[in-house]
Order: sequence, then C-alpha cells, then structure tokens
Amino acid sequence: MKWKNSSIILAFLLLLISCNKNPFTGKKTLALVPNSEILPMSFQQYNEFLSNNNVVNGTAEARMVKNVGQKIATASERWLNANGYEGYLENYKWEYNLVKDDAVNAWCMPGGKIVVYTGLLPIAQDEAGLAVVMGHEVAHALANHGQQRMSASQLQQLGAVAGSVAFEENQQIFSTAYGLGTQVGVMLPFSRSHETEADKIGLTLMAIAGYNPDEAAELWRRMQKNSGGQAPPEFLSTHPSNETRINNLEAWAAEAKAEARKYGVTSF
Ligand SMILES: [Zn+2]
Repeated sequence: MKWKNSSIILAFLLLLISCNKNPFTGKKTLALVPNSEILPMSFQQYNEFLSNNNVVNGTAEARMVKNVGQKIATASERWLNANGYEGYLENYKWEYNLVKDDAVNAWCMPGGKIVVYTGLLPIAQDEAGLAVVMGHEVAHALANHGQQRMSASQLQQLGAVAGSVAFEENQQIFSTAYGLGTQVGVMLPFSRSHETEADKIGLTLMAIAGYNPDEAAELWRRMQKNSGGQAPPEFLSTHPSNETRINNLEAWAAEAKAEARKYGVTSF
C-alpha cells in the first residue's frame, strides 16, 4: 500500500513537471516521454514499415502525395515561426510516401513521417482532398497526440505497478500507442478531443498551404458515404460523429481562410 501511494505521488509530480504547452491550442499537455526518445523510435518504425510494404515511386500519384505533404509541412513551419515557435520542428525529418494498399487510410508518425495508402486516393479525389487528410494527420503529430497517449500509458503503468518507475518499456509503449505492435501501421483511433483538435489545426494548415478549406467538409462527406457505416481505423471516429465533424469544419472554414490571408494566400 505504501509503495502504491509513493508511485501515485510520483506520478503526480511527473505530471507537474512534464507538461508542454501546445502551440496550436495553448493547452498544457502531458509529455512524460520526451520527443528526444520518441522521434528515434518513430523513425526506426517508419523505415521498418516502408521496407515491409509496397512503396509507390515515380508515378503522378506518388508525386502528388509528396507535393501536398511538402506544402502542408511548409505551412506548419510558417505558422509556427510566425507565432514564436521557431525551432519547434528542428528534429522533424519530413517524409511523404504513398504505399500500395487498398485500405482507406493515412497517418503521420512523430517527426513528420507520413504514409498515404493508395486506397485513400479515390476518396481524396484531388490535391485539396488529400490536403484535408494530410493536414489532419500532420496535426496529430504537431500537437504530439501520440506523445500524450504514450504518457497516459506510462501513468497507467505507474498506477498498476506499485513502486515501479522503470521507463525502459518505452519501446513497447510506443508500439502500443501507435498500434504498431501486431498490426503495423494501423493507427489506433484518437480521443474525441484530439480528433477535433486535429480537424481544426489541419484546416488552418491546408488553408495556409493554399487549399480551399471548404473542401474539408466535402472530403468527410465522401468518407462517410464510402464507409457505409463502417469507417477505417484512424478515421473511424464515432467520435466526433461524422455529422458533428462536418458541421465543425464548415463553421471553421471562414476562420481558416482569414488566418491564411495573413500569410498572403488570397484565393483558394
Ligand atoms: Zn485523426
């Protein structure tokens, strides 16, 4: 019992000292596992994923993924620099790969490691549709949502294993947090609040990248129609419901355009 109490107190102490401010939301977020530990794991897992999957190179579609990805990355950097967060992305190593797979899916691992599946392209339809999805996935990475999920796992472990503060399980926790253990590359769904944050940040990024944010609601309508009630893993999100998500995106589009105008984007 005594050990258990100590570990709970320790967990709270860690909570107090291990919070980062999220530049996109202004909220304090949990960061028990620092990016200096997460990013090398992420890069290694990403390379493993690429070597075990069918990466598409040299096609117009593969070039489109790289092109949209670069524009979203540039938009992220411009936004962060303009808001006093120079250096926030200094350990990022952006990469954008198209993988031949029928799954309607895409994800961005920590440090800007992006995969788009060919199965997503018919629903994305064009660059703007792809920018909606890539903006959303990049937003999860920028807001360190995976890091927060890892930190939550650490806390659960601290609570469960009385007196144990061993952090050497990071690799395992990383795999669990990113769903890379048994089903490689299948991102677990994020929480409702993280989904909503990613939608909003993603909308701003796509607008700064010069894409029309009105396309976001259209993309999710197509996604909803395609899913026939069964949505794919990361986009599964019964939270937020498709309807709430579409309403939110429509309501935020004007704001995203206004933000983009500050960066010299005049037409969408
Ligand atoms: Zn998401």
